[in-house]
Amino acid sequence: MLKVAFIGWRGMVGSVLMGRMIEEGDFAGYEPLFFSTSNVGGKGPDVGFDIPPLQDAYDVKLLSSMDVIVSCQGGDYTKRVYPELHNMGWQGYWIDSASTLRMDPDSIIVLDPVNRHVIDAGLSSGIRTYVGGNCTVSLMLMALAGLFASGHVKWVSSMTYQAASGAGANNMKELISQMRVLGQVAADLLDDPASTAIAVDVAVTKAMRSENFPTKYFSAPLAGSLIPWIDVPMDSGQTREEWKGYVETNKILNTEKNPIPIDGICVRIGAMRCHSQAIVVRLDKDIPIDEIYDMIGNANEWVDIVPNEKESTLKHLSPAAVSGTLKVPVGRLRKMLMGPEYVSVFTVGDQLLWGAAEPVRRMLKIILAR
Ligand code: NAP
Repeated sequence: MLKVAFIGWRGMVGSVLMGRMIEEGDFAGYEPLFFSTSNVGGKGPDVGFDIPPLQDAYDVKLLSSMDVIVSCQGGDYTKRVYPELHNMGWQGYWIDSASTLRMDPDSIIVLDPVNRHVIDAGLSSGIRTYVGGNCTVSLMLMALAGLFASGHVKWVSSMTYQAASGAGANNMKELISQMRVLGQVAADLLDDPASTAIAVDVAVTKAMRSENFPTKYFSAPLAGSLIPWIDVPMDSGQTREEWKGYVETNKILNTEKNPIPIDGICVRIGAMRCHSQAIVVRLDKDIPIDEIYDMIGNANEWVDIVPNEKESTLKHLSPAAVSGTLKVPVGRLRKMLMGPEYVSVFTVGDQLLWGAAEPVRRMLKIILAR
């Protein structure tokens, strides 16, 4: 029976992965072994049957006896353990959610509803490293896979509205702590029907600018504000998050030899775990809007076309509507005034599901089914 190691299973991505695997009955047909970097000998997750105590995630000898290693532990862990395993001659499959190995020429970025052909070719050619993509990239591709597959995309500009969860668990909590402070400073005014909105604004702005406002993790107010900077700067003037849009998309689509230009500004907003994106697609010809609807809507079972009208948009095209689901609604779809080759799209997706855990879960199933 194949042996599968799970590392990082109690982190944010890992726990969403565990939840999905239990939901889908994915713990059958192989021998799972759970590891920890902090609690060796402790109790693993409840997967519906007895499992051994937690193993040491730095025990490379034990890890090298595994057929598949699934890691949601993070980049530092991958940087340390992956080379050690390969130096020992380990030949198993490594499935990872960290970005460390994504651009490695010997890895494949996995998003099987979009690039199953690339994954299958990789498996046939002996590639053993499979990495989940950047959340924003994966969600954009889930939404627009049909358009990309048509071969008519000349370039894409995506302006993002990214959730706190992409920055980590502490950031999610800090966002709500900031909201709590704002709610508290405005509470009396909100309870007074005679108070003005300007008075509320003055109180809230003063709190946001105060030294005591909780900004340890974001380094700036997010609640009641936004942060137009995600990750580190690149020489191009982009942030690393913006850079990933171009390099990862073209790697996932296997278009690196003739890359599709993709660029935009990535912005953190006060959503919990859904990223949204306002996308402009430049096509290479005028394609009727009905055909574009069909291309996008028929690409996979998770895309939901939302009609470009107010009621449906408010009901279906928001983080509040999508959070915790695998749905990828695509709306605000129309031709733009710049010309018939320019299309606008707005899409929302749960960045812990399609943006992180789900491609990893599905990759494990693909390997186990071989
Ligand atoms: P995380 O929540 O920080 O978890 C990583 C590890 O931290 C856990 O497996 C756990 O390891 C340890 N840990 C320490 N204190 C913990 C606590 N109180 N609760 C839970 N775990 C704790 O990391 P993550 O956000 O899931 O990200 C994992 C990797 O996926 C990263 O490389 C990240 O870049 C990537 N990724 C993240 C996202 C995202 O949206 N967050 C999206 C795509 C990819 P032990 O059990 O061994 O102590």
